Amino acid sequence: MTPKTFKIKSFGCQMNVYDGERMAELLGAQGMTAADETAEADLVVLNTCHIREKAAEKAYSDVGRLRREDGSKPLVALAGCVAQAEGAEAKRRSSLIDIVVGPQAYHRLPEMVAEATRGARPVDTDMPAISKFDAFPARKRANPSSFLTVQEGCDKFCTYCVVPYTRGAEISRPWSDIVNEAKELADAGAREIVLLGQNVNAWNDNSRGLAHLIREIATIGGIERIRYTTSHPGDMNDDLIAAHGEVDKLMPYLHLPVQSGSDRILKAMNRSHTADTYLAILAKMRAARPDIALSGDFIVGFPGETEEDFQATLQIVDEVRYASAYTFKYSPRPGTPAATMEDQIPRDIMEDRLERLNDRINTHRLAFNRSMVGSDMQILIERPGKLRGQMLGRSPWLQSVHVNTDAKPGDILDVTVVAASSNSLSGTIRQRAAA
Ligand code: SAM
Ligand code: SF4
Repeated sequence: MTPKTFKIKSFGCQMNVYDGERMAELLGAQGMTAADETAEADLVVLNTCHIREKAAEKAYSDVGRLRREDGSKPLVALAGCVAQAEGAEAKRRSSLIDIVVGPQAYHRLPEMVAEATRGARPVDTDMPAISKFDAFPARKRANPSSFLTVQEGCDKFCTYCVVPYTRGAEISRPWSDIVNEAKELADAGAREIVLLGQNVNAWNDNSRGLAHLIREIATIGGIERIRYTTSHPGDMNDDLIAAHGEVDKLMPYLHLPVQSGSDRILKAMNRSHTADTYLAILAKMRAARPDIALSGDFIVGFPGETEEDFQATLQIVDEVRYASAYTFKYSPRPGTPAATMEDQIPRDIMEDRLERLNDRINTHRLAFNRSMVGSDMQILIERPGKLRGQMLGRSPWLQSVHVNTDAKPGDILDVTVVAASSNSLSGTIRQRAAA
């Protein structure tokens, strides 16, 4: 039976969220409608993430839960990076899986659904150059802050990471496709565009780089804010740094993963930077945009990491005074060089280091948030807050800001910050800025 309703569940990074939105649009264009609950859907797409341990096991147990009490099941599509890594093996491991579709083959989902309804169990993990974007319908719906993928894949081969294997080589979407999509999103109500890529700052089209693209998107009516993530220190060029000082709509926030503060570990990770070259980029960035908030990714417990190496990580955290950060325990990923390195770090040491790192980052995050109390800022309203009458907005520095207001998602408000915790700010309204 041809499915009439679908549910897409996306896990992991923002790029998966974006892919999930595009798959929904694709299925919508076939006349299918989104179901609120998984239990009501004729087709369930699990859009998976492979970055951390037991990702595949988790995906199979999620698939197992799709069997319903009466013994029936929806049509099940395994998508995302676990699908890419497992391929046809997924069908052998779970008889519930009808479709296996990798991140570069989503555009074929409707035809794969049709094949599956005829009893086939199609698998597509090919990586054709970017053709999937051409198959997607125009954007007709947007969030106040909307994701737009501009670059995919990675050629960096950090020794711990599966992305180069699951997402393939670095490719950039063409300039005109991106600008058109940004205009469609603006017409559909987006006020902020978040440009996405595994190495977004490696984006280029005929010698035009990300800074050029940002300047172009800043000219689109309705778009008031621009962000981009995730960047690699090796692709952080002077033009992009200069754009932070020159383009008002480019928000004062940079997520630039460092992973470790120890040069010895950075080398073993095959990162192309040292602690000093990373800090030099941030110094230039602060000179261009003094109020920039900095964020990073960290891995603790990489093979061979000593207490001294870990102290170097704490030191860089103190030096940078991060406004936020994502921290991970090292997870050996099958097929990556680090998984077979000697001197794997015991779990209890990793956990202890993670806790100490998080404490240190929280101290800086709280100080950063508290420094905002009493200041005036504009926030972009995204959605209702937890409390009645409360809405949740974002500061230019990506902090969550709670305000009591009858404003709607997409409104930009002038607020005064009255309180801060390590996770969020509270504000009172000064006036509503022109929509
Ligand atoms: N391309 C981006 C970069 O280089 O920073 C981010 C890609 S990755 C999806 C996001 C983060 O996951 C990485 O920055 C890293 O901190 C973390 N990560 C990747 N592989 C990991 C692993 N095997 N164990 C723990 N953390 C990992
Ligand atoms: Fe993974 Fe490194 Fe590529 Fe980032 S740069 S996606 S961490 S291999």
